[in-house]
Amino acid sequence: MADLTSRSLIKHILTVDVEDYFHVEAFADTVRREVWDQFPSRVVENCQRLLDLLDRHQTKATFFVLGWVAERFPKIVQEIHQRGHELACHSFWHRRVDSLTPRQFRLDTCSAREAIEQAASVKITGYRAPTWSVTKASLWALEILAEEGFAYDSSIYPVRHDLYGIPGAQRYPHLHVCQNKKRILEFPPATLRLAGMTLPAAGGGYLRIFPLQYTQLAFRQFENQEQSLVLYLHPWELDPEQPRLSGRLKSRFRHYTNLRQTESRLTQLLQRYSFESFRDHLARNPHYHESLSPVLTRQAHASSSAIA
Ligand SMILES: [Zn+2]
Repeated sequence: MADLTSRSLIKHILTVDVEDYFHVEAFADTVRREVWDQFPSRVVENCQRLLDLLDRHQTKATFFVLGWVAERFPKIVQEIHQRGHELACHSFWHRRVDSLTPRQFRLDTCSAREAIEQAASVKITGYRAPTWSVTKASLWALEILAEEGFAYDSSIYPVRHDLYGIPGAQRYPHLHVCQNKKRILEFPPATLRLAGMTLPAAGGGYLRIFPLQYTQLAFRQFENQEQSLVLYLHPWELDPEQPRLSGRLKSRFRHYTNLRQTESRLTQLLQRYSFESFRDHLARNPHYHESLSPVLTRQAHASSSAIA
């Protein structure tokens, strides 16, 4: 039973990237997209397990769904929507944005959006790139998202990392002004300031691999600033029994470490903190756009010495 007396008043944002265990970037060099259909899918059961857990804590989230999943399993997409959660887009093929041309990105995004919207008969307005791959090299993607009518993006990780990130980018929600003058809300995943560094602390592997206190420190820092933190996880992270794939040692470490811990750690966070979806967050704050300072594209290129 949750201790409601210690619950924070700030509502954080809970997000789920709906993909299967064989879709992840960590195994992209050993699992080709052409053979995805040959793997036993576990995404439906894992989503249902997560939906049941969220129901027990009366919590709604944003589910960024892979178009590939929506096309093959439209019923789970409907179910996510019917159980009160927000649907959003996580690309169709889980390819890194910075590996695509702008035209390929637009086609991939629109086909994913169509698959998700058709599955649930709902309009979606949010986007998250696979592997946080909106980087300095692919900031043009935000222009395309704005042109295509997306209201917000949650893809820029303001950290230094071997696979992703824009070191020095804004840590808090902001209005991103594109070079074509279009605007889109950017919600960076959570980070932690420690010893002068900005470290990733938004869920996923960081929730599983580091002690829970690490994530809780990030929550404390955000709450001290009266900011909502963006947390993320994947349905496969609640599935310790998933088939093991071969791959590089680092990939296996990132994917398989502490899978048995995810559910209990998420439960502790759900008991301690309040969460909502992006949709509900924006609906509760109708003047949100006006309260945010616009950030020009070139500022997102700021060096790591200008950490927000
Ligand atoms: Zn993903």
